[in-house]
This record gives sequence, C-alpha cells and structure tokens, in this order.
Amino acid sequence: MVRPAPTAAPLPHARWWRAGVVQAVSPPGVIDLGPGYLEPGLLPVDEVLPLYAEALTEFGPAALGYGANAGAEPLRALLAARHGCAAEEVMVTAGTSQALALLCTVLGRPGRSVLVERTCYDLGRTVMTDHGLSPHEVDADGEGVRPEALDRALSRGDDVAFVYLTPTFHNPTGTVAGEPRRRELLAVAARHGVPIVEDDAYAELGLDGSAPPPPLAALAGGRGVIRLGSFSKTLGPGLRLGWLQAEPDLVGTLTGRGQLLSGGALNHLTSLAVTMLLGDGRYDRRLSWLRGQLRLRRDTLVAALRAGLGESVTVSSPAGGFFLWLAFRPGHSEASLLAAADRAGVAVAPGSRFGSTDGTRLRLAYSFHSPDRLAEAAARLAPAWRNEESLR
Ligand SMILES: *Cc1c(COP(=O)(O)O)cnc(C)c1O
Repeated sequence: MVRPAPTAAPLPHARWWRAGVVQAVSPPGVIDLGPGYLEPGLLPVDEVLPLYAEALTEFGPAALGYGANAGAEPLRALLAARHGCAAEEVMVTAGTSQALALLCTVLGRPGRSVLVERTCYDLGRTVMTDHGLSPHEVDADGEGVRPEALDRALSRGDDVAFVYLTPTFHNPTGTVAGEPRRRELLAVAARHGVPIVEDDAYAELGLDGSAPPPPLAALAGGRGVIRLGSFSKTLGPGLRLGWLQAEPDLVGTLTGRGQLLSGGALNHLTSLAVTMLLGDGRYDRRLSWLRGQLRLRRDTLVAALRAGLGESVTVSSPAGGFFLWLAFRPGHSEASLLAAADRAGVAVAPGSRFGSTDGTRLRLAYSFHSPDRLAEAAARLAPAWRNEESLR
C-alpha cells in the first residue's frame, strides 16, 4: 500500500487527484468542461479536517455507533430549521443518488414510468432505469416542464410512479421556474395524485444575490413533494451526504427499509461532522465565499465565449448552479462541434446525453477550473467553433 509521505506542510490538494482515487481524471493537456464537479481547489479540505475531531469530541462513542435510522437528530433539527419544515419530515441520505435509488424502490415497481423533463440529469435517469422504471420526457420551455404538457402526460393513463423535476438552477439547462410556474405544476400533479420528486442539488448556489423562488416542497406545505438536498455541490461529493424532505409517513417508510434497519443512519460520522459546520455559521460563510468563486468563473467563461463567438452561438448566463447550456444555430451537428472542441483540447458534454435536443446543444461546466483555465478554454473553443460555422 502506497501512503503519502508524512509531511509537516499540507500537501497540494491536487497531489492525490488521480485515477483510482477519484471517479474521473481528464487526459493531460485537456481542459475538461464536462463534469459537474467543483474544482479541487474549491473543495474545503482545511475546513473539513477539524470537523471529525469536533464531532468525536462532542458525541464520543455515539459518533461511532449505528446512527438513528433517519439520521442523527441534531442534523435533522438543523436542516429542518434551515428549510422551514419539521424534523420528522427530514431524513439524512448518502446524497441525492442514494436518495433517488431508495425512492425508486419504494415508489416504483418495474414497469412503471417516471415523467422527466425533456432534458434532465442523465444519471438520475440511469438510477430510474436500474430499477426497471421507464423515464418519459415531458416538453419544457425556459422555465422547465410546461404544465399543459405535464397534464397531458399524466392523462395518458400510464402507471406513473413520480414526476422528477429540477426547478432551481437546472442541470443541464440552468433554468429556474418562477413561482407561478411552480404553483401550476404542483396543482397539475396534485390533481392526478402523483408525487413530485424535486431534485434541489443547486438550490443554495444562486449567483446573482437574489434568492430563487421557494422550493416546490415549501409551496406545497410538504404534501405530495419529496425534496432532495445534497452537500455534494456545496461542500464535496466525497462526503456522500445529503437529505430529503417528505411527509413524515413516507420518512417512516423509507427509514423502515432493511438497508437502514440493518446499517442505521447513512454516513453517520460524516453527518455529525457536517452538523458541526452547519450549526455555527461556518457553512453559511463557506456558501457565500463559494458563490463568489462560482460567479467569477461563470462570468469569465460567459464573457470569453461571447467575445470569441459573437452572434453565432447563444451563450446565456444562468442565475445559479454549475453549467452553461449553449445553443448553436440550427443545422449544426453535435458530433462535429464535439470533435472540433476535442481537437482544440477541450472536453464538453453533448446536449443529447441529457435527453432529446435539436442537436445544437452543448453543456459546459464552469465549476471545475480556475478563471484562467476557463479563459484559456474559451480561447481554444472560439476559433475551433468559428471554423465549424464557416464550414457549414
Ligand atoms: C450532481 C447532481 C446530483 C448528484 O448528487 P449526489 O448528492 O452527489 O448523489 C443529483 N442531481 C443533480 C441534478 C445533480 O446535478
């Protein structure tokens, strides 16, 4: 076993960012705007380091016991206060991916369908299909799913397990549903008696200083909506920590599953460590710092792409989250845009990965690189794509 050499000085964060340790590493020289990750330098190594000692000091052996099935009460209480609900409505999860998988087992049965936005989080769909559920796309506009389209889809008579929505700082499109839109979607789902799963991974990452509209769960008074929160995008995905908000009965059903009865709370020690951070203002200070960092990255990439590409590409600036959703002029081929980016040494995500598009969409993450690297990425992409444009 190779261990890092003991050293008095902190290691540079990137030293262990390598294949076999993390999920993905870009090839040398490539600027990877594909994944929705935080840049290694934005991950709070120094802030997280003391939290485990604090949690072990505060809770002693209870920090190493099986945690209460729904998660440790101090964290549930802090989350409930933060999100304006009761602690019985909150359950600690191992992140949104695990929460979604658990919901698929409880709400779904193989053969049932899930209604999703026309383009949405691709791996969320994979979790659904893993459970034998069939995602069906619903038409969307600049505020996400259209209520009439949802109504039509729910009237078809399919056996729908739930509707999966990301109304705030959507991945991949960056869109935000306004409050009237949210109320209409809630009314449609309630009329059909179908629950909504609200994936709110980016809710705390608004970048323009104004708060997004209230979550669907808040507007619905907690009824008929299961809201999924995550610390992956605000702290770090390696914590594997998130939470969900649902009606107390459903929380009871979820926490009565064998997985939790057998193993207790998910990521118990980590959840107590994050409790220390959440409880005294350090998390909020971290959030405002992180928003500033992301704003700088978004603004750098948007400005550099607009300057380099002019009118040929629509580069809209999202109000929060991690992603730009570029729209090229009709007639482009996604494959040739990707190939041109690849030749220029930049990786981007094809829009079609997230669902049905017109073939002119690409997703670029601004979260995973420094502003300098983002400017360099735009300087590589602009001539490559201008050349594509002239070849059309
Ligand atoms: C990143 C992301 C997730 C993954 O969440 P984890 O908490 O890390 O499992 C879920 N949903 C969306 C929309 C995401 O972008």
